[in-house]
Amino acid sequence: MHETVTNSRDLTGPAPGIVLFGIGGGLFVLGGMVAGVSAPFYRAGLPAGQRGPESAWIVGYVCAALGVGLGIALLAARDRLHARAAVSLPFVAITLIALPMLVSRTTTFTGAILLLWPILYAGCLLSEAVTWATITASLLSLVAASVVDPHLTVTSYGPMAATQALTVWVMITLQRRVHRVVGELSRQASTDPLTGLANRRALLDTLDREMAAHLRRGKALSLMMIDVDQFKQLNDTAGHDAGDEVLRRLAAVLSGGSRRGDLAARFGGEEFMLIMTDCALPDAVARADQLRAQIAAESVGWDHALTVSIGVAELRRDLPESDAGARLVGQADAALYAAKQDGRNRVEAYQS
Ligand code: GH3
Ligand code: MG
Ligand code: MG
Repeated sequence: MHETVTNSRDLTGPAPGIVLFGIGGGLFVLGGMVAGVSAPFYRAGLPAGQRGPESAWIVGYVCAALGVGLGIALLAARDRLHARAAVSLPFVAITLIALPMLVSRTTTFTGAILLLWPILYAGCLLSEAVTWATITASLLSLVAASVVDPHLTVTSYGPMAATQALTVWVMITLQRRVHRVVGELSRQASTDPLTGLANRRALLDTLDREMAAHLRRGKALSLMMIDVDQFKQLNDTAGHDAGDEVLRRLAAVLSGGSRRGDLAARFGGEEFMLIMTDCALPDAVARADQLRAQIAAESVGWDHALTVSIGVAELRRDLPESDAGARLVGQADAALYAAKQDGRNRVEAYQS
């Protein structure tokens, strides 16, 4: 099987930039405000010996202001920034949170809690690798804080580090599960359950995409519509199960005969389609006739011999862009109709 079915909308892919920077910008604004407002109260509550010089705390206010400013800028530019740049946000946030703690040699409760925000952001919106890198950076900053802050003992930063690690583990486990479920659902949504071929929705999605790509590259593309001859009669005489078995065998012949880049699909009932990439009409007609002859010959060995009629159409440059896929399908259908009219077990090409 050479066909590849890919959904035009990848549900497991990364969130768009507007979401990443919208949420990231909001978190920077909120985090900067929380840190800036709480710092003087926190300092005032410390025993005099632990407060350190006022100047050391200035860095905290500067970082809080930088966070708010960066957040506002991100919010303003969220629809223009490239999504990939969002990977840097957790590390910028950790730097803005950890720097004041290291300079003032004081690990504030707010700072330690704020370190969870970039971890949550990365775990929910960015890749697994970035999430691991984020928690590593966060844990390193806690270790560094414990080295410079004589009052920070393992009993105070230990639970925080454990909470961060647990949070990441829960998020990554959930993310993997969601990716698996969404991947399976989107595979099912694009597959025909009887034959395992791509279904009508996947075919139309792929056709639109391939047509646009082929027009752009100036390449030929053709479409084959295959319909079993007198299938109703086979169903009526041999039963529905025998009809299903024939459809499965046909699907196997079709995918066996498709080239790399082609897509074989069950369009509905006893109708199949083959998208032939980089294939002009004469070659497509020759392939269709070969397939027709192969099915007629091979099916003699099945429980029920059968024939198929095939309509072929080639993508033309003058097709209007809107509805181009549906029009090409219509042309292949018209050619198929002509093949049926001409007596079945034959191939017809669409002539405009
Ligand atoms: P023609 O040569 O003109 O195409 O005649 P036909 O009998 O093949 O065409 P028609 O459209 O009259 O009949 C198609 C039949 O396909 C009718 C329907 O019962 C059968 N069919 C559609 N889907 C399935 C399916 O999933 N399984 C089975 N066994 N039969 C199906
Ligand atoms: Mg039919
Ligand atoms: Mg039929």
